[in-house]
Amino acid sequence: MVNEDAGYTPAEVEKKWQEAWDVRGTNRRSSEELRAAENPYYNLMMFPYPSAEGLHVGNIYAFTGADVHGRFRRLTGYDVFEPIGFDAFGIHSENFALKVGVHPMDLIPKNVANFTRQLRRTGGMFDWSHTVDTTDPAYYRWTQWVFLKLFEAGLAEQKEAPVNWCPSCMTVLANEQVVGGRCERCDTPVEQRRIAQWFFKITKYTQRLLDNLDTIDWSETTTKAQRNWIGRSEGAELVFPLVDASAGHGSVDPDTVREPDETAIRVFTTRPDTIFGATFMVLAPEHPAVDRLVSDDRRGAIEAYRAEAQRTDLVSRQKTDKTKTGVFTGGYCRNPATGEAIPVWIADYVLMDYGTGAIMAVPGHDERDFEFATEFDLPIPRVVAGPDDDADTPLTEAYAGDGVLVNSGAFDGLGKVEAIRAVTEWLAERGMGELQVNYRLHVLCISRQRYWGPPIPIIHCDACGAVPVPEEDLPVVLPRVEDFRPDDSGISPLAR
Ligand SMILES: [Zn+2]
Ligand SMILES: [Zn+2]
Repeated sequence: MVNEDAGYTPAEVEKKWQEAWDVRGTNRRSSEELRAAENPYYNLMMFPYPSAEGLHVGNIYAFTGADVHGRFRRLTGYDVFEPIGFDAFGIHSENFALKVGVHPMDLIPKNVANFTRQLRRTGGMFDWSHTVDTTDPAYYRWTQWVFLKLFEAGLAEQKEAPVNWCPSCMTVLANEQVVGGRCERCDTPVEQRRIAQWFFKITKYTQRLLDNLDTIDWSETTTKAQRNWIGRSEGAELVFPLVDASAGHGSVDPDTVREPDETAIRVFTTRPDTIFGATFMVLAPEHPAVDRLVSDDRRGAIEAYRAEAQRTDLVSRQKTDKTKTGVFTGGYCRNPATGEAIPVWIADYVLMDYGTGAIMAVPGHDERDFEFATEFDLPIPRVVAGPDDDADTPLTEAYAGDGVLVNSGAFDGLGKVEAIRAVTEWLAERGMGELQVNYRLHVLCISRQRYWGPPIPIIHCDACGAVPVPEEDLPVVLPRVEDFRPDDSGISPLAR
């Protein structure tokens, strides 16, 4: 646009000065200069995905502020280094290649060239002598090197796990990419699948991640979101032994419930004090104990329910507003506090990968368990009495407030904090429980079953399993595969 009144012609002025900066090397720093900088300031912004022909206005929106900040730093005496690059691998770029029908190895370099031309025209302080392209083998050899280090340290592992699967994108989705049971990219209903995938064991650092939030200068909103994401809860792991079908379903003296074997069901609960009110157990449909518990007359119903749960994505399964569904396995386990045999059900709202994949249901004091018990006509005893209640006050809804234990044997009258400790210690004496900390944070799945990414530097050998590629053989270069489209097998195009 030309504004002649002001005598300013941006197309000319910008061009003139951008050329002058190029000649003078205004934004260019040699490696020696960078190392010698007295007052270094590294001004890095998020690299754009070249997943379209050109930049979109959101890129410029994000970069302008960061570039202004860099310029401010330079004018106040810092040696500002502002590199730029392209995050050119990944599903966004691959989907664009699929859409326009051009191989990503041909398409993406063209996009990068156009993005570069456009970014230069914005007049940002980018140092074009220091750029990164994540699809460059010289770059991703280091991605692969990091992977090998994690593998050596036992922090990268491959295992089969249930995942959210978008049948249209033919890829695995993180829980955050599932919105209302649908794929955030293409709106297709998401299913569940079991696939062998690579995981990073970020859970090994959970407590450190949490502790370090205290010393970081992030906003309150962000640290709070991080804390919720990590989701630490204190409670106990309790043990419910299976009841042999021949033993009948009666009660036994709780003091005789001891020395659990490996078939016993373990649950994590933040409220071990309410165990006297646990009148049934709910397992994730995928829980390995289901096969041992299921009675012949229940097998058909259990199999049908499992198949249905398999077709439902992990997010929808946990929706609190949906009607509770579930199936009785026909089997029982023993409540170690009451000595009663309690029925074991499966229900899809219990997930295998949170806690132990099993919950002790305390319908009197947990809303979901209350709904479930109401739906299936299971007993709902009161074990916590609020200020206006006694042991016999009827429950018309779950009571989750504070109070003292009732109908809980020797522990009647104890408040929550005391009771959690006392009940857990009592169970621990018999090996039926221990205090424990649990986290919401999971291991991080990095598999995508797609073509356009750095190959994982592992050789799968029939005899010895996963063998790391020797460091000196890096990079493992992504081969040109003409049919790079994902398919319904969930197997990466590289493995086909
Ligand atoms: Zn999709
Ligand atoms: Zn081998």
